[in-house]
Amino acid sequence: MFEERRINIKKPAELKIMREAGRVNAGVLAKVRELLQPGATTADLNAAAEEALKSHGCVSPFKGYGHPPFPASITVSINDEMVHGIPRPTRKLKEGDIVSVDCGTILDGFVADSAFTAGVGQISDEARRLLEVAEASLYAGIKQMRKGRRAGDVSAAIQKYVESHGLHVTREYTGHGVGRDMHEGPQVPNIGVAGTGVILKPGMTIALEPMVLIGTHETRVLPDKWTVVSADGSLTAHFEHTVAVTEGEPQILTVL
Ligand code: MG
Ligand code: MG
Repeated sequence: MFEERRINIKKPAELKIMREAGRVNAGVLAKVRELLQPGATTADLNAAAEEALKSHGCVSPFKGYGHPPFPASITVSINDEMVHGIPRPTRKLKEGDIVSVDCGTILDGFVADSAFTAGVGQISDEARRLLEVAEASLYAGIKQMRKGRRAGDVSAAIQKYVESHGLHVTREYTGHGVGRDMHEGPQVPNIGVAGTGVILKPGMTIALEPMVLIGTHETRVLPDKWTVVSADGSLTAHFEHTVAVTEGEPQILTVL
């Protein structure tokens, strides 16, 4: 189902650049987060992200990516939209929405990739619990990103955490190695079996990205060919960090 891409081990100097790209990316996402207010449009969020990227001399790898070419620098996905929502001047945020924002930053030829989901104003208890479980599942995965562990250990930790809370995790969309390319090996699915898969080594950099759904793991793609929604219309959430495997603790690169 998935094309396995090359795994590139990063040298310390390359990791330093990726850390800087991650810092810029975190700053961009923080700026966008401030704009999550009723009445803001998803195009407003994209414009703010582009301005912030530009102030660092950076661009996003999302713009022009894929077929048809993605037209914006961030993806904005609201409520049942899980990932890859296209920013539009006609799409306004409303009180109670949950909004997932995914951004990439290219700095000196290296990519950082990160996403968060947050509420607009007051959100339902169901939505709040979804966000808590989805975010915690990302950290359950990151905890496994240690030298000598396997990709399946990471996947299994995410799946177990989500399913033990009665929620569902996507089958079709996965975490991925990241570096000079936005998508490198190894692929790290959000479901898996511990003790299987690629052995993690220092210098691997992986974007982990659990996508969590309330009602089903099934999704479909809208006619715009990008926006992925839950098949049953239930709420979804998505969190992502780019993380480096080291000799010791996992290092999250996409933080300030
Ligand atoms: Mg991303
Ligand atoms: Mg990603």
